[in-house]
Amino acid sequence: MEPSNVKAGGHACPFRFRCLGCGHFRTDASYLPELKDYLATLLRDRERVLATGELDSWARAEAAPSETEIGKLRQLIHRVEDSMDELTDEDREQIKEAATALRRTRQVVDLGMPVIGSFVDQTRNEHRP
Ligand code: SF4
Repeated sequence: MEPSNVKAGGHACPFRFRCLGCGHFRTDASYLPELKDYLATLLRDRERVLATGELDSWARAEAAPSETEIGKLRQLIHRVEDSMDELTDEDREQIKEAATALRRTRQVVDLGMPVIGSFVDQTRNEHRP
């Protein structure tokens, strides 16, 4: 929802894509697969960065996804899943159908929304959505 980033189609985040700590960030149940993929990516990236001997300690500390970010993402995933669990079976099915329709639409139409990508990609290219 950050105006300059929205205007740029999600390619001009002024905060280096720190979405999980940003008041402009919005998500919904249709993004649950991406949120889970992102968590897996953060965990993989953290292990790889912490295991490398090619970085000075300060660089390793800054390159590794933080425990805070990982914890925030886990909380968000649980919140979305818990919200789905609280629905009636009928409402849950409707949400799943809507999420499926949104996911299909996003495959063929650029809605201009920021997406969460690889942590390492984000650190290498600050202009990546
Ligand atoms: S891309 Fe993420 S960090 Fe950047 S303004 Fe949007 S929500 Fe905030």
